[in-house]
Amino acid sequence: MGPMPRFVCDAMLGSLARWLRFYGFDALFLEGTDEELLEVSRREERWLVTRDGALAAHGPRSVCLRAATLDDQLRELFARLDLHPEPTLERARCSACNGELESVPAEEAVTNVPPFVGRTVDRFRRCTSCGRIYWAGSHTGRIVDRMRRICSEPDTGKEAAE
Ligand SMILES: [Zn+2]
Repeated sequence: MGPMPRFVCDAMLGSLARWLRFYGFDALFLEGTDEELLEVSRREERWLVTRDGALAAHGPRSVCLRAATLDDQLRELFARLDLHPEPTLERARCSACNGELESVPAEEAVTNVPPFVGRTVDRFRRCTSCGRIYWAGSHTGRIVDRMRRICSEPDTGKEAAE
């Protein structure tokens, strides 16, 4: 795969932005005016992702999603841009702020996580932007399972009205 496309999602698509970050995409979530969204899309060469057809029509690089549910929206976006992301959190960005994650020594991380996590987990990553600590656990297993389902079942092309 070439360089990964980057995104700016409109105010209705916060969950979508968070899930794009799980897959490793640089995805902004912006609660701004249409003009601000278009400006960020142009300036930073990001795909503008929206469900607003009128807004999408104004952008040189935009995707107007028809799917109603998160899983189907991700499938639709990947299909439209011919993306085949790996269902893994290895390249994930911070789901809270889109920052990049870096490995952090367990000794440093354990002061910031619940005690049982500090005792059982030895691999941590930290957001270089907001400082949030990430580790693998049952919660990430569920996320990866869902990422896998999203990637393995094809885009049905179902529309929101159905
Ligand atoms: Zn962060």
